[in-house]
Formats: sequence, C-alpha cells, structure tokens
Amino acid sequence: MTEYETVIGVETHVQLRTRTKLFCPCEVRFGAPPNSLVCPVCLGHPGVLPVLNGHAFELALRAALALRCEIASFTKFDRKNYYYPDLPKNYQISQYDLPFSHDGRVAFDGGTVGIIRAHIEEDAGKLIHDGPRSLVDLNRAGVPLVEIVTKPDLRSGDEAYAYLTELKSILRYAGVSDCDMEKGELRCDINLSVRPRGHRELGVKTEIKNLNSFRYAKMAIEVESKRQVRALEGGEPLRLETRLYDPERNATEVMRTKEEAHDYRYFPEPDLPPVRITKGMVERARAALPEMPAERRARLVRECGLSEYDARVLTGSRAMADFFDRAAKRLNPKTAANWLGNEVNKVLNEKKIELESSPLSPESLVQLVRLVETGAITATTAKELLPDLLMRGGSPEQIVAARGLAQVSDAGALEAAAANAIAANPKAVADFRGGKEATLKFLIGQVMREMKGRANPKGAEEALRKLLALSP
Ligand code: ZN
Ligand code: MN
Repeated sequence: MTEYETVIGVETHVQLRTRTKLFCPCEVRFGAPPNSLVCPVCLGHPGVLPVLNGHAFELALRAALALRCEIASFTKFDRKNYYYPDLPKNYQISQYDLPFSHDGRVAFDGGTVGIIRAHIEEDAGKLIHDGPRSLVDLNRAGVPLVEIVTKPDLRSGDEAYAYLTELKSILRYAGVSDCDMEKGELRCDINLSVRPRGHRELGVKTEIKNLNSFRYAKMAIEVESKRQVRALEGGEPLRLETRLYDPERNATEVMRTKEEAHDYRYFPEPDLPPVRITKGMVERARAALPEMPAERRARLVRECGLSEYDARVLTGSRAMADFFDRAAKRLNPKTAANWLGNEVNKVLNEKKIELESSPLSPESLVQLVRLVETGAITATTAKELLPDLLMRGGSPEQIVAARGLAQVSDAGALEAAAANAIAANPKAVADFRGGKEATLKFLIGQVMREMKGRANPKGAEEALRKLLALSP
C-alpha cells in the first residue's frame, strides 16, 4: 500500500493593533453598531484619497522582524480587483509583487517553517446573513492587516497547530496584534496537497478558507488529507479548488473551483506613493521588539533550571512571563513556577480570565507563598484564596487575618479533630491498626476537612498517631 505525505502551507491574516484604519481616520473598534465607524474613504466614495497610517506600517515592520523576515528597501501598494458586496471600492488595497518583507522563518515546538512573505493590506467588511436577506457591516472595511504566507513546509495538522500557536505568541509578544480569534483578529487559510512518500513533485492542492480556530485548522487538515488520499486511491482526479471546513460534520466541502477562480487584475495603486524603507525605520522597529518567546523559554531553562514544559507554560503569554520574572526575583524560581504554572493557571482556566486583566500582582503572589513557607497558613488555604485574589485582588496577609485563616498548630484543637476523625471512620482505623500505613493519610485528610484546611499537617499526624496508640 502506498504511504502518503501531506504538504501544507498556511496563509494567516492578522489585524494590526492600531487606533484607526489603514487609509482613513476611522476608529477601529470591535462590537460598535454596524456602519458607525465609516467615512467616504473606507466607503469607497468617488474622488477620495487614501493616506497611509504610519503606525500601522511601523507595526507591520515590527511583525516582519519578529518573524525574522528580510525587509525590502522599496515597497508599493497594489489594487486587487474583485466585486463583492462587502468590498465597497470593488478592489482591495494590498501588495502584489513588491511586498515590504520576505524570507523569514518561525521555529515552533517540533520544527521550523519558512515564511515566504508578509505584506500589508486592508480588511473587507462583514456580511451578516439574516434569513433570506444579507446585511453588510463596513466597520471592518479598511482595518489594517498583515498577511503572512508560509512555505509548504508543514506535514501534519499537529505541525500546523504548533506553528499557529507560536505565530500568535510571537505577534502578541511583539505587541503588534492581540490576535483575538473570537473577534476575527487572526484568521487562517490552509493550502494542502498529498503525495506518495518519497515523491518530490507536489500533488494537486486545495485551499481551505477562513479557519478561525487552531483546533479547526488541525481537524480540517486531517480530514482533508484523508479525503485526498481516498480520491487518489479510488482513481478519482483531484481538482484545484477552494473548500470550506464544517466543524459540525468534520468535513470539507467545495466553495469554488478553478473555473470560478478570480483574475484579480492587480495593478499599482495610483493614489498611494511607494514607500522607501530606511535603515532608521527598520532599526526603530527592531528596537521596539521585546525578548521573544523562544529566547525567553531558553533563558528560563538556562537560568532558572525549569523544564522545557514549565518554561513553555510560563511563556504562553507575555503577561504570564513578565509576572513570572517579577515573582521569581523574590522566590525560588521553581516554587514560583509551580504556583504560577499550576495553581494560578488552573484558576485562570476555570474562571476563564486572563492574568493581565486580573488584579493579582506578582508581589501579592509572593506574599501568599511566603505565608505558606513560614507556616502561617497551609498550602490548602493558600490555594483556596487564589480565586479571590485573582478576581478581586487584595493583600493575602490582610485577608488571612480578617478571615481567621491562620494555620492551627494548637495540640488541643488538633487532638479534638483527630478524635472526631477516629470515631467517624472505624474502618480506616481498623485498617491502620491492621498494618495499612496508607490509611493514615486518609485520616489526616479528614482532620484537615474538619478544620477547613487550616490544620498543620504535621500536627494532625502527630495527634492521630498519639490517639491511635492510646485507645484500644
Ligand atoms: Zn473611514
Ligand atoms: Mn489577503
């Protein structure tokens, strides 16, 4: 049986984090009333002139540098002509043969992918399908994007997923985009073909458009590879076509075929002057780049002795990585990594909140961990305080004092709770006496529960052992 290999390239559209649109002063804001953020320029009225948003250009330069691209010294804009209801000018201002950057690369978990080019273009509007009608919202028309095109270097859904995850992390670190996929700030198209393993020439590719989740991208790749292999095995010819992925059916379906493919009739945008990119512009953009996630991970492994895995978790976002750096200055880095990577992360996921929007500061996490280390509170109490600290903030010391959460080491109180645990669990007591040491852990847990997590664990064990040795 022939073994097949999947060949994948990814095109990603990323919204740049600007206050205004690419060629007009309209505000960029998600969720505004439809068609409230528009003007004659982005509505394509006759006689208007676009003016390039300098900040958008700077962010695009920074993005390209973060992707290790070469920066062109001369670049221009082109019109990509097509008719569509969400495109009021009937053309999109994009870049064709002279993109501002090219030939970069991204190293991801498990491989590297080449970047062919990154160019600047404007977004189109949005169609809202409402029963038999379709409505158009042009708030998004003219929003600045960079389109990032990879070489066909990827071989599986997992690799594409890892690349996209790294890409998002790089762009967020660089501060060029929030990459919020729920707001459509990052969207990707997949180019995919299969070929018998060992063959060099590429098979017929299909394009899967508009994937708005990395998981869907991975699933689409897996199901489309299988479909292509099945077609080839069945002697059915593959056609160059654009397909859509339907996550509900976990299948791709034809959107348009080659016969319907657009001829965009690109030509240079006559209303915008070309841009000469100076060394100074490139240096300014480079200076604005912070330490990138890969470098940061390497530093955490090297300097803090963390595992690759922990370093990856803690550098997942720049906010998390900055938080860790500050906490690790005053705690053992491994302790800080454990609290942040495990306990804090768990609560963030449960409560669906982002660390950057939480009032918890590195200083208060340090204070909380110190309370555990000095024995003032138990680890259990500290963990119980985390949701509150992450949602509402406050000083751990003050909260502990105000709620009377201090650890109880008082022998009398511990013995009283131990006596109750013994009385309530005769089976465990019998097992312990029969030689099952492990049941003591269970009884300690019972003491802990009775004392609402505040029992000093050592004290609880001592109290139990004492009482178990005394009573018959
Ligand atoms: Zn406008
Ligand atoms: Mn595009």
